[in-house]
Amino acid sequence: MSHGKFVTSINCMDGRTQEPVINWAKKKFGADYVDMINEPGPDLVLLTEDQKFLEYTLKKIRISTEKHGSKKLIIVGHHDCAGNPVSKERHIELVKKSTEVAKSHLKDIDVFGIYINEKWEVEEL
Ligand SMILES: [Zn+2]
Repeated sequence: MSHGKFVTSINCMDGRTQEPVINWAKKKFGADYVDMINEPGPDLVLLTEDQKFLEYTLKKIRISTEKHGSKKLIIVGHHDCAGNPVSKERHIELVKKSTEVAKSHLKDIDVFGIYINEKWEVEEL
């Protein structure tokens, strides 16, 4: 087991969303590190119909949970997302759906949904 407390996030590849998630996770959970799975449109990742892509994402999450002992997964939706350009309301809906999918695959992990708003502040959903 590696030293330090790890949590996991399915975050966007967008550079603007990295620090808000890291800072929020450090403050909220006392995390030392956030393992990032970065994809454009992170709130669509677990809703994909592409089974191979889903399995690959779950594999990445399990590396974080099994090798780094992470017990928490943060799923991100954000303002001005180039990978998924929809309204705030739609992002919130998709993040909530994604957290349900995550919970169905990952039994011992706490799943959190967040929205990063136009001020690049985290809103917990
Ligand atoms: Zn994005």
